[in-house]
Amino acid sequence: MNCLNGCRNIYIDNAATTKMSKSAINAMLPYLDGIYGNPSSLHSEGQKAAEALVGARERIAKCLGCTSRDLTFTSGGSEADNQAIVSAARIGEKKGKKHIVSTAFEHHAVLHTLERLKKEGFEITLLDVHENGLVTPEQVAEAIRPDTCLVTVMYANNEIGTIQPIAEIGAICRERGVLFHTDAVQAVGHLKINVTEQNIDMLSLSAHKFHGPKGIGVLYARKGIPLTNLIEGGAQERGKRAGTENIPAIMGMATALEEACENIDKNTKKLTALRDRLISGLSEIPHSILNGDAKKRLPGNVNFCFEGIEGESLLLLLDDKGICASSGSACTSGSLDPSHVLLAIGRVHDIAHGSLRLSLSEENTEEEIEYTIGAVKEVVEYLRSISPIWRDLSSGKKKFIIK
Ligand SMILES: *Cc1c(COP(=O)(O)O)cnc(C)c1O
Repeated sequence: MNCLNGCRNIYIDNAATTKMSKSAINAMLPYLDGIYGNPSSLHSEGQKAAEALVGARERIAKCLGCTSRDLTFTSGGSEADNQAIVSAARIGEKKGKKHIVSTAFEHHAVLHTLERLKKEGFEITLLDVHENGLVTPEQVAEAIRPDTCLVTVMYANNEIGTIQPIAEIGAICRERGVLFHTDAVQAVGHLKINVTEQNIDMLSLSAHKFHGPKGIGVLYARKGIPLTNLIEGGAQERGKRAGTENIPAIMGMATALEEACENIDKNTKKLTALRDRLISGLSEIPHSILNGDAKKRLPGNVNFCFEGIEGESLLLLLDDKGICASSGSACTSGSLDPSHVLLAIGRVHDIAHGSLRLSLSEENTEEEIEYTIGAVKEVVEYLRSISPIWRDLSSGKKKFIIK
């Protein structure tokens, strides 16, 4: 192996996915090996699996502040988002309500589902996001109409990490009799959440964003909200989501979530300190700007734009230095379109292209952060030194956008 970088491997792309925790892996192993029954089977092997399923559902419910019967297991965050939104739309259209309120910077699992409903005749209002990466409860209140059937606002943004005023938005929706869904995939396990206290009617989560396995998630839907099936078949999940339950993944998810919730204060403290050091270090780079509010953001999220560079080149050169980072969402990388999130907060195309998202986990160290600050500084400087755009900017031929 070529070890120019001292064989470093600094993983700071935890918003894309996380490494599984040891305890989550250990929670899965017995169900991959000895306990393989189908929970729908009546014999004792099946019943062992069924008991495990009941237990896992209860443990997850406890972490969210709800009862276990309000939880539906899905294949992940995308499916939970799809099912929540489609269900609310079907409830709405029966009452002649075909208007949905959301925001311009949602995950594509939400935006593309809304686009599909639009083709069916739903009207969609996408709220503008302020430059600090936040929407306000007032914006939501103003957008709600008599024919609104759903408000869906993400808990924390997956690119810039900003945390929305969820309890306040929930209270407004409750008062106006409108269902409220939140895509909390980036928030669950990282922020304290109680769906009951925060007036949340529906919530999506995904295990692989909090050190659990990939391909498993949950849709919480408050009692009395009828869900629409996306997958037809057997009577699993009270008939709302067919398919034999993925017991190993569900066990891993329950353990990862419990672990994350137990350690939330400790992790927040550690991550916030690392995040703020990273922000202050990268702010020293000339013509750079932090995307999203400096404080109302996930404890592990850092997102910057650097003028005069191209995000993809930055990522490749950082990878050479042993740093795994992202320019934004994993879902849009590979496409040349700038991030819809950065455009939503008002960054122009040229600036949005020069973005870098660093998302930390508890496993990152101070030493890794210092190395990363040095590496980003070096790479940005190098890319600018070979950039014709930067030459025009520094000679005054073109005006800087970021001061
Ligand atoms: C990762 C993510 C999703 C998708 O979750 P999957 O489990 O990968 O389908 C949805 N919304 C947000 C905000 C995410 O970060």
